[in-house]
Amino acid sequence: MTDTVIVAENCWDGTAGGLLGRREVLVRDGRIHQIGARVRRPTGANVLDLGDAVLLPGLIDCHVHLAKAQSAAQEAMAAVPVLRTLLDHGFTTVRDLGGQSPGHAMVAVRDAVASGDVAGPRMFVAPRMISARGGHGDDTGYGSCCERGALADGVDEIVRTVREQARDGADWIKFAGTGGMINKLDRPQHVGYGEREMAALVAAARDRGLPTAVHAFTDESVRRALRAGVTTIEHAQLCSDATLAEIAASGRPVVPTLYVCHRHLERLDDDDFWTGKPPGARELVARNADDLRAGMTRIGRSALTLAFGTDAGMFDHAESWREFPTMVRSGVAPLRALRAATTVAAELLGRPDLGRIEAGATADLIAVPGDPFADVEVLGEVCFVMKEGRVHRRPK
Ligand SMILES: [Zn+2]
Repeated sequence: MTDTVIVAENCWDGTAGGLLGRREVLVRDGRIHQIGARVRRPTGANVLDLGDAVLLPGLIDCHVHLAKAQSAAQEAMAAVPVLRTLLDHGFTTVRDLGGQSPGHAMVAVRDAVASGDVAGPRMFVAPRMISARGGHGDDTGYGSCCERGALADGVDEIVRTVREQARDGADWIKFAGTGGMINKLDRPQHVGYGEREMAALVAAARDRGLPTAVHAFTDESVRRALRAGVTTIEHAQLCSDATLAEIAASGRPVVPTLYVCHRHLERLDDDDFWTGKPPGARELVARNADDLRAGMTRIGRSALTLAFGTDAGMFDHAESWREFPTMVRSGVAPLRALRAATTVAAELLGRPDLGRIEAGATADLIAVPGDPFADVEVLGEVCFVMKEGRVHRRPK
C-alpha cells in the first residue's frame, strides 16, 4: 500500500482536552506511522489535504443492530447497505448486539468485512440476545410475532446457549437483564434472570474468553449483573442515583443509548410514528416517560464511564450521529461524548489501537467541517473517512 500523508488545519487525537491545531499524519500499511505539525513526506506518498476540516479518530458505536429479519440470509443481505451507510458517516467500528434470526448471520458478515469482501466498519458481534421465556427477547405471547432473542431458562440451558454462540464465533454475549418497552407484556421493571442464572451466564462466557453485555434499565437487574461480573451495561436509563454510583465505582462502562429514548419521547403524540410498531410499545414509553426524561439527565450528570452507543436499527443508521447532541443536551460535556465514541469505546472492545491518532494506532481517521467541541452537530457532516489506511470517502 502506498504511503499517505494527511494534512489538516486542526485535529483532535482521542485523548487531548481539546483541539491540537495543525497536524500531519503519515499512514503506512494501515497504521499511523507518524503524527506531528510536520511529518516526513516519503517519495511517492499520496498527499491528502483536508483544508480547514478537523481530523478525528474514526468513530465507534458500541450498540447497533445492523439488521433484524426472520432468516439469516435476509439479515445478512440487509446488513450490507447499512454497513456502507455507517462507514459513510464516520463509524469505522461497531459492536452489533444481536440480530433476530437463529442463524447468527452477523458473524459471517463480520468476517466478510474483515476480509474486504464487504465495505463497512469492523464488527464485534453478540450474535443473538439471550433472554428468558416471556422476557425482552420473546414476543411469542398471545400468539404474536416471534422469538427475537435466543430463549433460555435455567442454568443448564443458559450455559448451553452461551457455548453454542461461542462455537459459532461470538465476540460478545448479550443477555436481557430486564424487559424493555417492545411488546405488550414487556416491562423495563421486570428482571430477566435470577442471581444464579446471571452468574452462570457470565461465568460460561468468561470461560470462553468472552465479555458480556446486559440489556438492563432498572436497579435490581443492574446490581445482579454487576455482582455476576458483567462487562458492560446497556441503557440504564431507569436506574436510581445510588445504582449509577455503584456502577461508576465498579468502573464498568455504561452504553446509555440516549437518542433512541429521546426520539421515542419526542414523538409520543405522533400517530404516524407509532403505526406499525408493536402493540403496547407507545403506552409503555408514555407510562415511563417522566422517569426516562429524568434518567437521561441522571446519566448525563453522573460520574459513569460512558461509552457511545445508539441502538441504531431501532431507527435509521444514517441518524446515529444524533447520539452526540443528545448526550450533550443531557449534560454530557462534548469532550466526554467524543471520548465515549473513541478511546473509551476502544478500551471497552479491548482494542486500544483504535479510537486514537498516535504512532502505532490503526489508521481509522475521519474529518468534520468544524470544531466539534464548539458545535457537536458537525459530527453529522463527516466529510472524510479512512479505515485501516484505505480512503473510503474523499473530501470534496
Ligand atoms: Zn439494542
